[in-house]
Amino acid sequence: MAELSPMMKQYFEIKKQYPDTILFFRLGDFYEMFYDDAKLASRELELTLTGRDCGQAERAPMCGVPFHSYETYVARLISKGYKVAICEQMEDPALAKGLVKRDIIRVVTPGTVLENSMLDESKNNYICSLCISGTQAGVCFADVSTGELHATTLYGKNAEELTQRLINELSRFSPREILIGQEALDLSTLPDFIKKRMSVSLELLSGDDFAAETCAPLVLEQFHKDDLDELELSEKPEITRAVGALLKYLKRTERAGLERMEDLDLYSGTQYMRLNLNTRRNLELLETMRSKEKRGSLLWVLDRTRTAMGKRLIRSWIENPLLSPAQIGRRLNAVEELLDDSILRDGLSNRLSGIHDLERLMSRIVYGNSNGRELRSLSFACESLPMLKSLLKDSRSEMLRGIWGEIDELQDLRGLIERAIVDEPPFSVREGGVIRPGFSEELDHLKGDMSDGRGVIARIEAQERERTGIPKLKVGYNRVFGYYIEISNAYKDQAPTEYIRKQTLTNCERFITPELKELEGRILGAHDKSVQLEYQLFDSVRKRVAAQMSRVQKTAAAVARLDVLLSFAQVSADRKYIRPTVNLNGKIILKESRHPVVEALSEEPFVPNDADLDREENRVAIITGPNMAGKSTFMRQIALIVIMAQIGCFVPAASAEIGIVDAIFTRVGASDDLASGQSTFMVEMAEVAEIVKEATSDSLLILDEIGRGTSTFDGMSIARAVLEYVADRRQLGAKTLFATHYHELTELEELIPGVKNYNIAVKKRGDDITFLRRIIRGGADDSYGIEVAKLAGVPNRIITRAKQILAELDSGNAVPQQKGNVKKSEDPEDDMQLALIPPNQTEILDKLGGLDVNTLTPIECMNTLFELTKLA
Ligand code: ADP
Repeated sequence: MAELSPMMKQYFEIKKQYPDTILFFRLGDFYEMFYDDAKLASRELELTLTGRDCGQAERAPMCGVPFHSYETYVARLISKGYKVAICEQMEDPALAKGLVKRDIIRVVTPGTVLENSMLDESKNNYICSLCISGTQAGVCFADVSTGELHATTLYGKNAEELTQRLINELSRFSPREILIGQEALDLSTLPDFIKKRMSVSLELLSGDDFAAETCAPLVLEQFHKDDLDELELSEKPEITRAVGALLKYLKRTERAGLERMEDLDLYSGTQYMRLNLNTRRNLELLETMRSKEKRGSLLWVLDRTRTAMGKRLIRSWIENPLLSPAQIGRRLNAVEELLDDSILRDGLSNRLSGIHDLERLMSRIVYGNSNGRELRSLSFACESLPMLKSLLKDSRSEMLRGIWGEIDELQDLRGLIERAIVDEPPFSVREGGVIRPGFSEELDHLKGDMSDGRGVIARIEAQERERTGIPKLKVGYNRVFGYYIEISNAYKDQAPTEYIRKQTLTNCERFITPELKELEGRILGAHDKSVQLEYQLFDSVRKRVAAQMSRVQKTAAAVARLDVLLSFAQVSADRKYIRPTVNLNGKIILKESRHPVVEALSEEPFVPNDADLDREENRVAIITGPNMAGKSTFMRQIALIVIMAQIGCFVPAASAEIGIVDAIFTRVGASDDLASGQSTFMVEMAEVAEIVKEATSDSLLILDEIGRGTSTFDGMSIARAVLEYVADRRQLGAKTLFATHYHELTELEELIPGVKNYNIAVKKRGDDITFLRRIIRGGADDSYGIEVAKLAGVPNRIITRAKQILAELDSGNAVPQQKGNVKKSEDPEDDMQLALIPPNQTEILDKLGGLDVNTLTPIECMNTLFELTKLA
């Protein structure tokens, strides 16, 4: 077998170290892929597959992408779940002696991307690491693009409970990539959930990766500490191991270091309101349940943020309502101050619009992936900061004052960048044209030499023309011969003897002279040196900017907070929200409250409603009323208002007192879990089980139609038992909104203290009902199912028959067979009769059957008769 070419040997050396990635191998202006990678990439990216001589009989399959547009190709591969290793030329091919040195600079994976084009600016891009030990788990979530790192420990009484909590946590952060050990893969239904329900890339790490002995030193080194105690990790080995494994993985993939991650945020479940996966989905906090769109979610209503940092933070605030009235009060004070001053609001919002994504810009600058354009963006972002800060100068609320204090104007960075970098820098930092004249004397000299050299060349042209008397003698340049003298054929015999002929073209000859060559050496040398110097200068500016990371980070965090508070204030002003009173009294008292999303979506006026819940007499509200009356809207409305209050936003109501709730649980409608293959009823019961286990007396429960998925008596029994359990203070005693079809349950008001009946008013006129959307005390007198069916367009014949059946059931009689229609009749006459009725008469009969003569006005009778005669 023939030897592989040296370059192919180099390729295989590198590929061997990254077998599970697609290797982008830099060759001049392209990243090339070879062999199986090439076949795969040509298929996935629709690239033409070619071949390259590799020293062997068969050519190596090859395809490539231009280096300046590689991001889009990498993005496509990443989104399909592949990992891409980027292999760069580590020296200038023009200067390299022999084979150009190459090395992997980065492995791009879904959880470690930094490129803007591959990231959604409004979302964090988390990578998660999970370390399971028995029924405890260390979990950490990092966003490499912003430098955030959050970690916590989760506990469970058994594997199932731990799994449930892990699932809730994973769905809260929605990571793009999960690092997992074998223990996690063996944990109950966890792997199943991850594979089927999350679109995430899974990376199985070895036991060694999670080993405490190697993880602890890495964690200490990363956060510049000597002792795990200083990080409050000495009692939390699972977190140390999870974070350690993550750091190892990032070191393997990023290779450029992890300077960006400076702080470890240890959070605990007791800091925020607990919202499990179902609740977040049911309440449509960030996206709608069916179409997974932002429009129609709470986020959609509240998000008026102007910056990418604000967009990410508002999501996190909505998902993490606070539990401390003092903390919430601080946010509300700030929102109130902004709400009261529309001029300040407008000013701030204008300034915020000019601020680029400082966090992600800074990451690229720190990791060394940035170019001149990104430095310019940073400087442009800094331009707004002094004005933004001065607008906050006179603010009174503690939070706004804090933000004012934390915004660093960063004018020194801006000055440096403006002095150093030209206004419109090129994409590449290695080809010159980045540094502004005047920034470096040395560079200016080199450039001066270059232009002097060019001047000398122009002089040579004039001088040689004169000396030789050839009027059209020209000095030109090309890449192959460098500078040359060109003489047209008519004069070529007059060329002086010392000219050295280099090239003959059809109408001219080209020559060189030693003098020209010497000059050329000087010009090109100066050019190379200046390009190199520009790169060094750029890199030193980049490093000086990167060294100020913490200042930029702090400013970015303050800007993000301001942006979200301003967004709350803006929405509250536009939608006439009011400031809630937030305390620990355990009451939820709302006057004239509205559903924030339905109100924003619907053209119809929203009918406001009151709510009254507390720990004593009004713990449980049983809500009855026909379908479509507005039961679930009302219940969600209360949950959303509580969330809005606890994230520090104003709320849609005339007045609101909110006693902090520690968790909201919902069991709503038929959220079929078809993907997991469980029946609707099974899912419903599993959710109920989780709720009664996890809720406390400070939680708020939204239970919609419990027991619907099984037979009436089964369902009612379960509904009643659950209701008794949640209402009973010795058991759970949580504030609960309980919508039900089982009217029988309204008798519990008499039997259980703390239970109150409510219904949603409807007005009935004949067969028709009108929804009044007002919630009132007392149980509903009827479920109006048949009327709602009519409203929905069920044919009159069926409606009439349903009424007949209902009347018989109510009177306790057996339901008689319907004549001739439902079942084949014994009497041949009946069949005959049916067949004999022509279709238009059926319609007439339908209409007649649907009439309730007792409630028709005379004029309606006339109109109906008129219509019927038209049909006959
Ligand atoms: P239910 O749960 O009783 O079947 P829904 O809560 O689904 O009823 O409400 C049915 C429809 O009525 C919804 O589409 C909603 O837009 C509208 N609706 C509910 N409550 C109100 C209200 N207070 N004001 C105006 N429209 C409402």
